[in-house]
Amino acid sequence: MTRSQTIVTDPVGDCIPARQRTAIRRKLLRWYDRHKRDLPWRRKNRSQDPYAQWVAEIMLQQTRADTVIPYYERFLSRFPDAMSLARGRQETVLKHWEGLGYYRRAILLHKACQQLRTENTPVPRLAEKLKTLPGIGDYTSAAIASISSDEPIAAVDGNVARVIARLFCVELDVLSSKGKKRITKLADQLIPKARPGDFNQAWMDLGSKVCTPRSPSCDICPLEKECLARATGSTDTLPIRGTAIKKKIPVVHCVVGVLSHHQNFLVRRRPIGGLWGGLWEFPNIEIAPKKEKTQAMKALVESIMIEPNEVVSLSTIRHQLTHRLMMFHVFAGQVANKEGKDIGDAYRWVTRAQFAKRSVSTAHRKIYQAAC
Ligand code: SF4
Repeated sequence: MTRSQTIVTDPVGDCIPARQRTAIRRKLLRWYDRHKRDLPWRRKNRSQDPYAQWVAEIMLQQTRADTVIPYYERFLSRFPDAMSLARGRQETVLKHWEGLGYYRRAILLHKACQQLRTENTPVPRLAEKLKTLPGIGDYTSAAIASISSDEPIAAVDGNVARVIARLFCVELDVLSSKGKKRITKLADQLIPKARPGDFNQAWMDLGSKVCTPRSPSCDICPLEKECLARATGSTDTLPIRGTAIKKKIPVVHCVVGVLSHHQNFLVRRRPIGGLWGGLWEFPNIEIAPKKEKTQAMKALVESIMIEPNEVVSLSTIRHQLTHRLMMFHVFAGQVANKEGKDIGDAYRWVTRAQFAKRSVSTAHRKIYQAAC
């Protein structure tokens, strides 16, 4: 088999031979130069700006590049640098993040920029310093530092781990600490001193376009000849992931009240921290799955001291999150007189136009569409 001449069997625990490292770097970078995706954060004016890379990396967490692009452009034109973001109101920042989900990312990004402003410091360029900011971990700091400042440090995310596990036939659970350690050790050996940012991005592109989770396109892969999984026919069984028992996703039930007074709706702002922190929503309360929904709705209405003429059940809205499935049982009611009621500081009556301008989670936008 001609491939065996270039494959080093089980490099784990040892150094990857210099010749093999050189071949992988050369082939991957050559492939990247030909096939790299044209993404706004890769353009010349932004590729060396650590803030522009930071925003991109935070938006790309849990979100596909195609989805991120319009949000990224809009966010950077409103907040072109860390200082403008630090000066922005949280409400405005969340409004520009609306629809992208995982709002805690935006809150931490904003907080980190405010920290830099207080310390009168520019956005750090090295991974060690970046990691001291809220919301930045090992992967994100390595990606920002290598891309914007050429720091030779490997950025290992799920895509990269998959490619490396196949390339070197790592037969460990890539989600276990032992598996992560081994993948990182291999990635660290491969990162070149020249063009480390391009090399990290090349891994990412290869993982998302060629070495995909199912049915990798080995025939067009630049690393086909170096790949142990390809040589041993184990591309379908690698990487090994999540040997730990998979948890069942919990289903959370909530009753939601869309309470209106003439053309106004009652909304409230969620406390900062936790799910959808800082966003606006219709009053709602979590309930036990088997609890009688109308009674629960009545208790919710009484807790905010509003007296609607009647509340009627409208529909149930299903909203899938990564770690839970939300079931919103939506009720609607007309409030005859809102004067003199204590609805608390977090609550506001808003018109449709005002509602449209507020930062609201996708789940509550769906509720609005169903009820209003
Ligand atoms: S040859 Fe196939 S399995 Fe190996 S790295 Fe390339 S795409 Fe992935």
